[in-house]
Amino acid sequence: MRKKIIAGNWKMNVKPSETAALVKAIAEATKDYTNVDIVCCTPAIDVPAAVEACKGTQVKAGAENAHWEAQGAYTGEISTGMLVDAGAEYVIIGHSERRQYFGETDETVNKRARAVIAAGLTAIVCVGETLEEREAGKLNEVIERQMNVGLKDVTAADCAKLVIAYEPVWAIGTGKTATPDQAQEVHALIRATLAKLVGAETAETVRIQYGGSMKPGNAAELLAKKDIDGGLIGGAALKAADFAGIIAAAAQA
Ligand code: PEP
Repeated sequence: MRKKIIAGNWKMNVKPSETAALVKAIAEATKDYTNVDIVCCTPAIDVPAAVEACKGTQVKAGAENAHWEAQGAYTGEISTGMLVDAGAEYVIIGHSERRQYFGETDETVNKRARAVIAAGLTAIVCVGETLEEREAGKLNEVIERQMNVGLKDVTAADCAKLVIAYEPVWAIGTGKTATPDQAQEVHALIRATLAKLVGAETAETVRIQYGGSMKPGNAAELLAKKDIDGGLIGGAALKAADFAGIIAAAAQA
């Protein structure tokens, strides 16, 4: 039985001075849902405030990216050691916006994911196809490539610190959601691909989140599917009531 995990991806939306209030509102609204892992992944500059606000609550703080090198001349980057030092516990890696706008590749996803896991943080590794890829019949090929390259040399032991997020690019921030059956089909493919990499027994333990316009109104039917173990939430993570609504659905799934 995999514990459900709902993570918010705040993107570039919340200021440091606004962070504590949002985390506290989320913690207060979700305090009864102790059977769900709840994470707020924030801009790096918000992480210290998020960590502080998470203290004494069941909410955990995370970041939206991390570099693979421990330190050095990498202007604008954040190391895993910095995030550990600040008290973060999760890091999103390979979000489609990083891939689309910042040149992230499956190879850099792999380097970042391995560094995150080696630092003792949990990596939320994102995969997902564009609409063009889906319509061209390349869905399986794209997901398998993102998995095989992005998770190269990730071991079965590393999987204790791994979450995968399936985020169809066409569903992110668009209001279009994959149907529960469409999402389940890809989640099953992700688990089968992971089984080839780390063994079927380990693959069964890894949580696979769905991301793409998940809301309180559609979360329950997605989370009812066999291989959907949670959600990575963008827009709806910015309003405590909406985020809590999704977490309530996860608590009952
Ligand atoms: C995301 O950015 O990871 C995401 C799923 O966004 P949204 O929920 O807004 O579609």
